[in-house]
Amino acid sequence: MIPVRHLTILGSTGSIGVNTLDVVARHPDRFRVVALTADKSAKKILEQCRRFQPRYAVLLDEASAEWLKTEVRAAGLATEVLSGVESLEKVASLADVDTVMAAIVGAAGIRPTFAAARAGKQVLLANKETMVMAGRIFMDVVKENGATLLPIDSEHNAIFQSLPQHFKGDLGAVGVRRILLTASGGPFRQLPLSSLEHVTPGQACAHPNWVMGQKISVDSATMMNKGLEVIEAHWLFEAAPEQIQVVIHPQSIIHSMVEYVDGSVLAQLGNPDMRTPIAHALGFPERIETGVTPLDMFKVARLDFEAPDFKRFPCLRLAYQALATGGSAPAILNAANEVAVESFLKCQMPFTAIPAMIEEVMQAVGRKDIATLNDVLAADGLAREAAHEWLTCLA
Ligand code: NAD
Ligand code: MG
Repeated sequence: MIPVRHLTILGSTGSIGVNTLDVVARHPDRFRVVALTADKSAKKILEQCRRFQPRYAVLLDEASAEWLKTEVRAAGLATEVLSGVESLEKVASLADVDTVMAAIVGAAGIRPTFAAARAGKQVLLANKETMVMAGRIFMDVVKENGATLLPIDSEHNAIFQSLPQHFKGDLGAVGVRRILLTASGGPFRQLPLSSLEHVTPGQACAHPNWVMGQKISVDSATMMNKGLEVIEAHWLFEAAPEQIQVVIHPQSIIHSMVEYVDGSVLAQLGNPDMRTPIAHALGFPERIETGVTPLDMFKVARLDFEAPDFKRFPCLRLAYQALATGGSAPAILNAANEVAVESFLKCQMPFTAIPAMIEEVMQAVGRKDIATLNDVLAADGLAREAAHEWLTCLA
């Protein structure tokens, strides 16, 4: 008999959340949805409640939760509606939930993701910002509480698949020399540098290969996304920064590679569709159907590779710098980036101001040691303050 997994999906209305539910719906014998959560997308989560009948639906926003409560009652559903961060933490750590998809975007995901790890769950990690902000502490919490971590980010999932199953955090012990982290280069890989200043949010969000949420789409355009992923890979696989090589691969068919000391390079390939890494983690260690179009090698025909251009993508340099600086630096980088991306999306600053703001905030706030989650949240708060001050000066 197939063991049934009981799921909480944090961020169920987002791009990863919707793809997760798409895979779940294909396997009603394998998965039960216990809780769904979102920020304030009440209409979308109501539809999901009708379809998946979860025990809980949590909205961060109280007013949206009130609306949802009325609608859920009117629809005759048994779903209990809750609101607030504490409720997100509650449904991430319910006793009868074994698996938590952590797919909230940004620093907002950190508390519920930590709650899932503290409760010893199988954590399917899409919320890379948690790892960037608090990598060492988070990995410790995972270990101390017997939680399991499965990467959802397509690159990290590819690396996980290309490592031996007995890998326990020592790359040298399994003969790994380097990790080759692929990146598409985003929509502006070939745009003349002089045009970057004038690109619009619409252009930045039009990723050539992936359909994703707005924040990660802008991060892909600046390549901050790859920078965050370098930091994520550092903590997940205990890889030194110089063991992580970013490789631009515009087709997004190879999702990352692992280079071994004997000269072998193992890669995971597939069409760019997040349902593959999601299903890999949901079914692990089994393989399950996803509805993803099989890869047609004859149609792909060729695969290209380039070295990253740090002049075009200063955010990538800043991320390597934050990783080298350590302590609170990655949390500061992440917070400044979130404020910068939000301002760019609201047309309050040009695309090229994103790295400029992050660099100045990193200098202004300065590195501190990090010992607890509160230290991380304090660094996040200081960086946001400095970023808003920077914006005030810009206006
Ligand atoms: P999205 O913007 O599409 O969805 C975000 C989800 O989080 C939504 O359900 C939203 O309601 C919820 N949310 C937003 N702010 C919140 C808050 N303050 N409190 C509680 N919930 C909140 O984002 P996405 O593209 O699905 O990305 C989610 C995470 O997965 C990000 O960390 C991203 O970096 C990572 N990721 C995404 C992709 C992808 O293909 N979309 C790929 C790799 C990694
Ligand atoms: Mg990725």
